[in-house]
Amino acid sequence: MDIDPPARGIPLVPGDEERLLRDAVSDLAGRYGHRYFAEQVASGGAAEELWDELAAGGYVGAGLPEEHGGGGLGIAALCAVEEELAAAGCPLPMLVISPAIVGSILARHGDEAQRARWLRPIAEGRIRVAFAITESDAGSNSHQVATVAARDGAGYRLRGSKTFISGVEHAAAVLVVARTGRDERGRGQLSLFLVDSDAPGLERQLVPTACAALEQQWQLFLDDVEVGEERRVGPEGAGLRALFDGLNPERLMGAAMCTGIARYALDKAAAYAREREVWGVPIGTHQGVAHPLAEARIELEAARLMLQRGALLYDAGLEAGEASNMAKFTASEVSLRALDRAIQVHGGNGLADEYGLADLWFVARLLKTAPVSREMVLNHVAEHALGLPKSY
Ligand SMILES: Cc1cc2nc3c(=O)[nH]c(=O)nc-3n(C[C@H](O)[C@H](O)[C@H](O)COP(=O)(O)OP(=O)(O)OC[C@H]3O[C@@H](n4cnc5c(N)ncnc54)[C@H](O)[C@@H]3O)c2cc1C
Repeated sequence: MDIDPPARGIPLVPGDEERLLRDAVSDLAGRYGHRYFAEQVASGGAAEELWDELAAGGYVGAGLPEEHGGGGLGIAALCAVEEELAAAGCPLPMLVISPAIVGSILARHGDEAQRARWLRPIAEGRIRVAFAITESDAGSNSHQVATVAARDGAGYRLRGSKTFISGVEHAAAVLVVARTGRDERGRGQLSLFLVDSDAPGLERQLVPTACAALEQQWQLFLDDVEVGEERRVGPEGAGLRALFDGLNPERLMGAAMCTGIARYALDKAAAYAREREVWGVPIGTHQGVAHPLAEARIELEAARLMLQRGALLYDAGLEAGEASNMAKFTASEVSLRALDRAIQVHGGNGLADEYGLADLWFVARLLKTAPVSREMVLNHVAEHALGLPKSY
């Protein structure tokens, strides 16, 4: 049940620009709401109407450069868009994948022809491009990617498999991470390739998961998929550098999805706690109900500030890895806590479909594991921020 319209997200930067953006997206998403989202998920839809409206408003490409069809407002703006969507009960992972990961990589590493052919339609929301790095055997160790792109005449042949690749069913293409060589330490030298979703030799198999999202997850099998040289993004073997320019936006957008879900949960919990009476007073009168929500609200604002810091660093072209990882780490913990508390405040109704909370659990839970697991974030912080030895 959509009790109240979503509360506005407090802008993090003074001035009107972010406020206007947030208000516009919040109004747009509020017209759809979580019930629409849940119906789309249940029916296997892609929320096309919502996506198309976002695209027409220029919100899909808000963060991408203006000269390539975007709004030129940076990843901070796209994070604001994602947060407002999630705060209205409509988290959109495809916004994380297509414009934030693939779009950011193309903006910084694509050549002019690739930007015209791929980046502009991504920024304008006319096409979606999925992203495939994960492999069953390599796991979190991207140096062990086994999918190979072998030189073949003027192009490449790709062989291997990927797993848990989101949204391929809605995507025109997939940006595939493949190995084109090994360095002196035996680690994979990676390259990035744009592969059409319907390319001959590319097969996919559904991986059923608990995530109630608009995107399905797929295992991809690449059996001598031919791509021309013009499909390679960035120099051969330099894919790792390009990847980081897409993975930091991915972490920031994941954080934004989490802070949005936390806002959505807390808005609903507070509205319910104001209205529901069991002992003659609203349950929100009891501090045992109010304090966990207030605590989650404080944690939420801390996560939002960390997110903003990471986005500002990225947009300024500064080192944003640690800040982005920390923001994703914190936001994913906060969203699960806020959602859990919101479910608790709703009593039995917290588990009823009608109240639209429990179905978001695994989407929020996903962000503890993906795009980078909490343990790998802790490894990064232990090594780089604390100077501790690496264990792996
Ligand atoms: C719903 C969903 C959607 C996804 N979408 C995509 C997508 O679109 N594209 C894509 O490429 N991938 C996608 N993924 C994959 C996701 O990014 C990976 O599952 C994630 O990065 C973890 O990798 P793994 O599953 O191989 O876990 P593993 O690497 O096998 O790790 C297993 C566990 O061991 C821990 N661990 C591993 N190494 C260490 C270490 N050195 N120290 C401490 N702990 C460690 C991990 O933290 C984790 O808890 C998706 C996954 C899911 C579930």
